[in-house]
Amino acid sequence: MRNHAHINLAALSHNLQRVQQLAASARVMAVIKANAYGHGMLEVAKALNAADAFAVATLEEALKLRQSFTDKKILLLQGAGNKSDLQQAIEQRLDLVVHTEAQIKLLELTDAVTSLDVWLKIDTGMHRLGINPTHFPDYFSRLQQCQAVGQIRTMSHFANADDVSDSKNLKQLSVFQATTSNYSAEKSLANSAAICGFADSHLDWVRPGIMLYGINPFNQGVGADLELLPVMTFSSSLLCVQQFQAGDSIGYGSTWTCPEDMPVGVVSVGYGDGYPRHARAGTPVLINGQRASLLGRVSMDMISIDLRGVDASAGDKVVLWGEDLPAEEIADCSGTIAYELLCKLTQRVQFDYR
Ligand SMILES: *Cc1c(COP(=O)(O)O)cnc(C)c1O
Repeated sequence: MRNHAHINLAALSHNLQRVQQLAASARVMAVIKANAYGHGMLEVAKALNAADAFAVATLEEALKLRQSFTDKKILLLQGAGNKSDLQQAIEQRLDLVVHTEAQIKLLELTDAVTSLDVWLKIDTGMHRLGINPTHFPDYFSRLQQCQAVGQIRTMSHFANADDVSDSKNLKQLSVFQATTSNYSAEKSLANSAAICGFADSHLDWVRPGIMLYGINPFNQGVGADLELLPVMTFSSSLLCVQQFQAGDSIGYGSTWTCPEDMPVGVVSVGYGDGYPRHARAGTPVLINGQRASLLGRVSMDMISIDLRGVDASAGDKVVLWGEDLPAEEIADCSGTIAYELLCKLTQRVQFDYR
């Protein structure tokens, strides 16, 4: 039996409405990069069509999206890397992030007659992508003079929005405001965490990603705390129930030893499906609505579960995360974040949309 990822499309539109409530005066650019955080880009885009625009990371993603969404505003977050990317972006009417002077030169050199909208990205303190604020006036006016450039908007990205108490957030907002205050260009700064925790940063366009998928964007808590609904429920099934004796050790490395005679369930899921190999003993799963705990190491195709006090038999459905079992909690038990878990399900998992 195949493992399943059930994608709840109604939960997606509910979460989009939460964004619209929280940032009522802003327009919404739904971030659906990395195959919509692993949920399936085209299906998710359909369910989020009420968003004002979509954002993706790569040209390949943008071109695929454009085929199904011929009129939607689509922003390519990495921008164009060379002449041919730029040519395709112009032909396909994509919006481009501009984060280097080289990208401005590409725009200056193109002889395209049609124009595209650009988002000039400022590095306000994350120090990943973006132009230095001191270059902003010069680059902005160069873009204004480009034939190939239509509207210019400005954007930046937070490094620490997942921690509302971090003073660097306010610092980044002030740098952004100070840099752009003399310009009427529309502004965009807030990701999910800033949408939920930092209303002053909403500005003209918000860019939610993870919260659309029902995940709490802060470094603790679960989606339900913010009235978000989980979108993905990842499930497998119980292959068999084994009886072991006190002193028997379970799985690779014999890392877990039975303290007493006990039943152990084997579930047909492993890191080959995208279940995190680093999930530690004690990580919860749901079997028939009951919580049970992972034992020993995660294998490629299987995990072992402590079935003491759990009513379960071969063939029963096992929920790994999703409805009634927050992915945030599994991420926490695995030394990662829910973003990574959601992105990493493999080809072997069957996706169902309802
Ligand atoms: C991924 C991304 C987002 C969305 O971030 P979330 O934390 O998932 O809300 C917003 N803006 C940019 C530039 C991004 O790369």
